[in-house]
Amino acid sequence: MDEVDVRQRARAFIAKVDTSDIRTDLTPYVVAANAKVKREELDEGESGYTITKPNGKHVITVNSLETEERQRFTICHEVAHIVLELESSHEEVPSWSYAKRHPNEIACDTFAAELLMPYQQWLSLVPKEEPSLELIQHMADLFGTSFPAAASRFACLSDMPCAFVTMERGAVRYAARSTSLRQTGAWISPKSIIPVGSVAHRLRSSGNSATDTGDVSQDIWFDNWEQGLDLWELSRHYARTDTTTSLLWFDSDDLPGVEVNRFGARVEDDGGLAELTGQLPWPGRSKRR
Ligand SMILES: [Zn+2]
Repeated sequence: MDEVDVRQRARAFIAKVDTSDIRTDLTPYVVAANAKVKREELDEGESGYTITKPNGKHVITVNSLETEERQRFTICHEVAHIVLELESSHEEVPSWSYAKRHPNEIACDTFAAELLMPYQQWLSLVPKEEPSLELIQHMADLFGTSFPAAASRFACLSDMPCAFVTMERGAVRYAARSTSLRQTGAWISPKSIIPVGSVAHRLRSSGNSATDTGDVSQDIWFDNWEQGLDLWELSRHYARTDTTTSLLWFDSDDLPGVEVNRFGARVEDDGGLAELTGQLPWPGRSKRR
C-alpha cells in the first residue's frame, strides 16, 4: 500500500461520514470505525493504543496527559489502524521520529492527516495568499492540529510550487511536494544533511527553538538545480527534539523552464542542437527578490 493508496482509502472513508463538525468533534470517524474512545493517564511518550473486543468493537485509549491536538491526532491514527487493518508497532520509537518508524505507522499518520484536515474543507478555508507563520498557525488552530501537520498539508494541497521538509538531528527525513513542484522535477534527497545557507541550517546552528522566514537561492535546496532563482523559506526549529521543519515556496515566474518526462526526470530541450555559447542557459528569467 503506497501513499497514494492510503490517501484514497482515507478519502473514501471520509466520504461516508458527516464531517461538518469534524474540526471540533471526531466522534463521526470513531463511530464509522466501530470504535469508542477512552481517555486515560498513560506513560510519558505513549500516545495511545487500540483493543478489539470479541464482539468486534474497538476501544481506542488515548493519553489524557497529552495536548488536545496530540490526542486528536492519536484518535485518527488509531482509526487508521482499524480501517486499514494494519498492526501497530508502537514500541520505543517516538512518534515525531520518521527515522526508524515502521511503514504501517507512516501509513497511519498519512491517513490521520487526511482525517484531521479533510481536503475539501481545507481548500475552502485556506486563504488564497502566500504562506506565512500566521497563516499556517491559523490553519493549525482551525483544524486542531500541530503547526508541522498544517504546514505539510499546506504544501501538499497548494497550487503554487511548494514543499514541506522535515529534518531530524540535522538530516532531511521527508519532503512533501505540491503537484506543481513535482512536475518541475524538483527533488530533495532524503537523508541529505540540512544545506548550508538555508534558514533551517541557520536556526538549528543557533541551538534554540526559533522560527524565521527568509529568501534563499533555490539551488541550496534542490538537487541539480539552476542558479540565480530564489525561493522563500519559513523554517521552525524545535530544540528539545532536534527537529527542524521548512516550508519552501516560490512564484511560478521563478520556475526554471524545464520539461519533465513521465518518469519525473528532467528533459533537456531537444529542439535541435544548440550551439555552445558559453552563456548560462537562463537568460533573463532570473528574478531575485
Ligand atoms: Zn500506530
